[in-house]
Amino acid sequence: MTLTVQPHRESVGLKTGQLLVDGQWGPGSGGGTWTHRHPATGEEIGEFAVATAADVDAAVESARRAFDSGAWSNSRAGVRIKLLHRYADLLREHAEELRSLQALDNSVPLSFSGNIYATSVEAAADVFDHHAGWVDKLGGQTLPPYQGGDHLAMTFREPIGVVAAILPWNAPFLLFAQKVAPALGAGCTIVLKPSEYCTFTVLRMVELLTEAGLPPGTLNVVTGPGDPVGEALITHRDVDKISFTGSRGVGKHIVEASAGTLKRVSLELGGKSPALVFADAPNVGLAAATTIGAVTMGLSGQACVANTRALVHREVYDEFIAAAQGMAAAITYGDPFDPGVLSCPLINERQLDRVLGYIEQGKREARLVTGGERLGGDLAAGNFVAPTIFADVANDATIAQEEIFGPVLAVVPFSDEDEAVRLANDTEYGLGASVFSADAQRAFRVSRKLKAGTIGVNGFQIEPHLPFGGFKQSGLGREGGLSAIEAYTELKSVFMPLTDELM
Ligand code: NAD
Repeated sequence: MTLTVQPHRESVGLKTGQLLVDGQWGPGSGGGTWTHRHPATGEEIGEFAVATAADVDAAVESARRAFDSGAWSNSRAGVRIKLLHRYADLLREHAEELRSLQALDNSVPLSFSGNIYATSVEAAADVFDHHAGWVDKLGGQTLPPYQGGDHLAMTFREPIGVVAAILPWNAPFLLFAQKVAPALGAGCTIVLKPSEYCTFTVLRMVELLTEAGLPPGTLNVVTGPGDPVGEALITHRDVDKISFTGSRGVGKHIVEASAGTLKRVSLELGGKSPALVFADAPNVGLAAATTIGAVTMGLSGQACVANTRALVHREVYDEFIAAAQGMAAAITYGDPFDPGVLSCPLINERQLDRVLGYIEQGKREARLVTGGERLGGDLAAGNFVAPTIFADVANDATIAQEEIFGPVLAVVPFSDEDEAVRLANDTEYGLGASVFSADAQRAFRVSRKLKAGTIGVNGFQIEPHLPFGGFKQSGLGREGGLSAIEAYTELKSVFMPLTDELM
């Protein structure tokens, strides 16, 4: 039977996507639209407006006016805290609807978005609650006088201004929250650009924010592809900060393109995160299932922090590969609304071609254990790729170095701890790493030596209060925790004599 998601489209009641400028939803000024096609079926799902440079101008101007008015940027902490908590509750109330919209946008199955914390609506709501907690604690310092004379030396944290928030398509709930919650918590105003491959989910999340009572103009939305919409945003004179999550190439381009006005820039980019499996791992089968699970379940390896490089001690190498192969065989594909479906297709044909190209490269570089092909039959109209494992991979092979963003695991053998750490760090990326060992001293010793932003020891989780971000070319800055909300502020120092002596 041919796969179709059309009945779900009807039941979710998907509307045409519009821009939000100054509190008003409307079509783009140029009349251009983008037709979104479902990655599992190729069916047309819906249309949304493509913003013009003039629309981006209007959105930035609206955010600037809202910021300068102080309606949000200068609002009392209590007002902001209550709104962020109210919104978190609204997200929880609408969780099912949002998960369905996501399944229509990017085909991430309900089985995954409902059960895996980091990609759940619950996690996004928790991020809003977490940042609400920082709003009345964003304080400065009062410092003792450095030189003679009686005076006060103080620091204040003030909102940075207008933020351009640019999202990728793969984890809309968490990534929307990790940008919007701290930016609003700090008092900034926002122009948001969702990915053209996951727009409808984000538009609904924005609608709920207006229902929560956010003043008009505080958050504006421009939709459409990176070029021209994102491009107009990152080069806009009146944007103070860019907060971007996406690929390394676009991240580097943003740094260059925004240099003219020296915008503040936060970047959450890609990775080639290693899982280090030592011979004393508490359960090699579980380590293998966790590793290949992160590369195949739910997102088909289209996750920034998926450990797509397994570094495995030679003593447990064969056991690891056999267990990973067993797990790979259990992954199911199809209708994302079917509770029995565990994973998704690649997001578009460009990405499908790219991943299949890497797989062909892998066949020349290493030993193919399983997968290595596009899925056909009932799934032929979608961008499905079989879970793929390559063994005996050299760490300098292309498939061990480049972010493939697909269901491809490269397994590299090692002989001792020093070699494992050296291989793990031998990459241009540094987003995450996992260590599997029952020896607590080894696990901590190795964790300290790994050049990566987040380390999992016998398990991996992204939590709202734990800073998340990359070393090296995986990014600039962190999301989550106090440092995340501080990144939406400028630090101001004030000097004030207490006598006439210093004036
Ligand atoms: P992408 O870089 O293609 O697109 C990301 C966003 O940037 C989209 O909204 C896109 O329209 C926009 N964009 C593209 N070109 C632009 C330009 N010239 N100017 C401004 N905006 C532009 O990435 P993607 O395919 O959506 O997402 C996958 C990438 O995101 C992977 O590399 C993945 O590792 C990374 N990612 C990182 C994290 C993290 O937290 N570190 C999380 C999720 C995804």
